[in-house]
Amino acid sequence: MFKIIKISVYLLIIVFLYGLVPKAQAKNDSLFIFVEYAAKTGKCTQSSNDQVNIYTIGKWKLKSGMTDYKITYSSKPKNLSGENIRIAVEKSFQTIQGANNGELFRYAGESKELKPTKDGQNSIFWLPLRGGVVATTYIWTENSRVVDADIIFNRRYVWSNTEYNGSNDCGGSAKTYDIRNIATHEIGHWIGLVDN
Ligand SMILES: [Zn+2]
Repeated sequence: MFKIIKISVYLLIIVFLYGLVPKAQAKNDSLFIFVEYAAKTGKCTQSSNDQVNIYTIGKWKLKSGMTDYKITYSSKPKNLSGENIRIAVEKSFQTIQGANNGELFRYAGESKELKPTKDGQNSIFWLPLRGGVVATTYIWTENSRVVDADIIFNRRYVWSNTEYNGSNDCGGSAKTYDIRNIATHEIGHWIGLVDN
């Protein structure tokens, strides 16, 4: 009799814990995935493969303090140097920081990450994504704070980096995607903006 009561208590505790843990995780931990599609025309015009820049506010914030980001150079397109890419990405972060009055992000060197993973490492890299998708950004949050973000560019497309002068849209070369332009859009998601 005593034994049965004891076992019942243990069972109750196990059931209680089992019920509690997954619920708590589901409530406070989230993954947001932003998929950016290429324009149907496949040509670079003012409104084609330029990404939308109109956002509304999402439901998460950056963690307090500085956020480090890394670039996986082993995955980069061959037509661009690592230094070229680093500068383009840095300018994208500056654009977002300028809009937020202060430094939020810091370049932290080379990453080895080649798969979007919640590993506490914010990485930017290239992967062969499915056709029509220009970039995908993964944002993991805990209690509405970003704990990890990974930006992936589609390796199937040609990427460029040309200083925009007001008329040379898409980096000045047709049928290429401008790293700075698209990275800026993706970082916008990172800080909590969502496409309108
Ligand atoms: Zn977007």
